[in-house]
Formats: sequence, C-alpha cells, structure tokens
Amino acid sequence: MISEQSARRRVSVLGATGSVGRSTMELIAEAPDRFQVEALTAYSNVDVLADLARRFGARFVAIGDPARYRALKQALDGAPCEVAAGPEGLEAAAARDSDWLMAGIVGAAGLSATLSAVRRGALVAFANKEVLVSAGRLMMEEVARAGATLLPVDSEHNAIFQVFEEQNRGAIDRLILTASGGPFRTRPRESLAQVTPAEAVAHPNWDMGAKISVDSATMMNKGLEVIEAHYLFAMPAEKIEVLVHPQSVIHSMVAYSDGSFLAQLGAPDMRIPIAHALAWPRRLKTQSPVLDLAAVARLDFEPPDETRFPALRLAREALAAGPWAPPVMSAANEEAVAAFLQGRIGFLDVTEVVERVVSATAPADPDSIEAVVALDGEARRRASEAIDRLTPATS
Ligand code: NAD
Ligand code: MG
Repeated sequence: MISEQSARRRVSVLGATGSVGRSTMELIAEAPDRFQVEALTAYSNVDVLADLARRFGARFVAIGDPARYRALKQALDGAPCEVAAGPEGLEAAAARDSDWLMAGIVGAAGLSATLSAVRRGALVAFANKEVLVSAGRLMMEEVARAGATLLPVDSEHNAIFQVFEEQNRGAIDRLILTASGGPFRTRPRESLAQVTPAEAVAHPNWDMGAKISVDSATMMNKGLEVIEAHYLFAMPAEKIEVLVHPQSVIHSMVAYSDGSFLAQLGAPDMRIPIAHALAWPRRLKTQSPVLDLAAVARLDFEPPDETRFPALRLAREALAAGPWAPPVMSAANEEAVAAFLQGRIGFLDVTEVVERVVSATAPADPDSIEAVVALDGEARRRASEAIDRLTPATS
C-alpha cells in the first residue's frame, strides 16, 4: 500500500499553455516524484498542448476551440490519452478525478470548467480571477456546498492566504493589497492616450499574459483583485485597502487590531505563489530567484491615484452596486482590452468603454450561473457597440 507521504498528487491544469499554466508545468516537471498529470487544457495552441500532454503523460486533453479537435487528435495519435474539445471538453477535463486543479484560464471563459472542479470538491488553485469577479457569491456557495478548497494563486491573495489567521478573523482590521502601479505609474494622464499595446504589456516587474498586463497598466487588475479578495476572504470592501508599492517585494498584508501587520515577501516571480498552491499544505523547492533585501535596499509606498487610473474606483463602485455589476464590468473590460490589443481603440478608451457599459446596464439580481452568463453576454454586446462607435470607419 502506498503511504500518504509517498503518494503522488494527481494534478490537472486548465490553461496549460498560458503564462500561469506554463509556470505550473515547469514546477511539476521539477518534482516528478510528487506530481502526476491527469488532465490538461488550452484554447487553440495544439502544438504546445500536445507536446505537454506527451511529456507529462496526461490522461485527458481538451482544446477549447472545437475547430482544432482533429488537429489535436492527430497530434496525439498513439498517445494513451482521451481527447476532447469545446466548452464541454474543458468541463470534462476539470471533472476528471484529480486531487488538485489549476484554474489558469483567462477571463469568464473559465467559469464552467472551474465550477465543475469546485463541484467535485477538489483542491482548486485559483488564478482565473475573472471567474470570482463574475460569479463570486455563487462560486463561494458552491465551494461551501461541495467542501472544495480554494488556494489563491494571484500573488496578493496568495500572500494574504499565507498570513490570514482564520481563528482571529474578528481581529482583522483590513487587508492591504499591494500594487506595483504598472508601467505608467508616473506618467501624466494626458500622455496615456497615446500608449501603444506594446508599451502597455511591458510590465516593469512581472512577466504575464497580455490581458492581465493591460489590466495592470489601467489598474483594472487591482480593481478586479479587490473584488476577488472580497469573495475569497469574506471581507467587506471598506476593509480592503490598496497600496502602491513599486518594487513588488511585499505581495500583500493583513493588519490586525493589536497593531501587527503580517506580510508575505518574495521575488516577483509567479512560480512562488504557484508552488505554494501546488504543494499546499506542504512546501516545494523552487528555482526562483531568492529575494535579496540588501540589494533591493528600499521599499516605497504611495496611495493609488484614482484620477489618473479610474478603473480602481469603477471596481469599487461595481462591488457596491450589487452582484450584477462586477460581471458586467469584467466582461466589458475583456472586450475593451481585446479591442485595445487589436489597435482598435486607445488606452484611455478601455476604462471609458467599461464605465459606459456599466452605467447603461439596469441593476438585476443574478441568482444562478446562467443569469451571470446572460449578463456577461449582454455586457459584451454593449461593449462591442461602444467600441464600434469609437473605432474610426475603415471603409
Ligand atoms: P494567458 O493569456 O497567458 O493564458 C491563458 C490560458 O487560458 C491559455 O492556456 C489559453 O489557451 C487559455 N484560454 C484563453 N481563452 C480561453 C477560452 N476562451 N477557453 C478556454 N481556454 C482559454 O493568461 P495568464 O496570464 O496565464 O492568466 C491566466 C489567469 O491567471 C488570468 O485570469 C489572470 O488574471 C490570472 N493571473 C495571472 C498572472 C500571471 O502572472 N500571468 C498573475 C496573477 C493572476
Ligand atoms: Mg495579482
């Protein structure tokens, strides 16, 4: 009989070809005695997905884009794994019986697959923040019902998770989410209209996917994170503070009523929070650079500037408005960021589109996942109309 200590953790990775997904696969590769791969998914990158599936001996592989099913099937010809496609394929991958699953898809597209892992009571490493922003209340109810465990992967939430004393919940004054301030922290607002997609995705501290990089530049990322923290830690918005900290060394803090601040520090490297979630409740050795505080020498802090970066204010307003507003805001933001990355709208238009869509939407009470999905679709239609109006006609 295999003892608890020597059994390998069976892991699945949704979004295995992305930035978080690739870091996760790298960590798994470094500890073959501790992990074995059950299921892997990606949206369209057949070559990388098939390569990972063969290398790691995955048993189930799903591609989000149904048009790529045949290509994936061919690429995995002879490999001992099942192949699936489309949203049902992603859900089936998440439903496979793994101990641990990385929710590493970007955007609300990850909702149904993540939900399917939650519903089977898995340990779910949570990177896909848009899912909690869209359906936070419903998702946390499902987590409680199924006895699932969410392990926060977003560096701020992972930091808070590491220093959050559940037994002293009542003595928590506030959560302090740190923010790097993004690539335009010191730029005057007038100059931001001219920012190009290439400038916006060049983050000073973190190497991430395109969407979250643009969100960091507008600071919508921090707004999404305030909402994410509200649901993950069941804390009211007024107890969640944002503090700009350009060095990204302190990843977040919990302030207790006795005056103690507990923080988690580390090099700005996503492999650290991912490794924490992967091995939880144990620890894993990583190849990440070790934090050298003497070399960092100083840590700076400043309040966020909501005039230059209104996205943070929008997110707080959305959270206060009711459970219909965060999914609308987040879906409109996904559409606006995609349009900005395609060069269709300017950088400042991104937040502008989001604000217009939220204010044009009537309050509702989404009491099911289907209702959230409907709100999401409506917000995307409104956003694409707003984007069309901003896009100069080309014909
Ligand atoms: P990414 O764009 O690099 O990767 C996204 C992954 O999701 C890819 O594997 C892609 O194939 C898959 N995907 C995209 N659209 C899909 C769809 N419609 N259906 C199914 N799969 C789809 O993104 P990322 O930077 O790795 O971010 C993933 C999530 O983690 C995001 O929610 C992001 O906010 C969060 N996050 C990322 C970082 C980071 O360092 N990259 C840090 C904190 C949080
Ligand atoms: Mg973060």
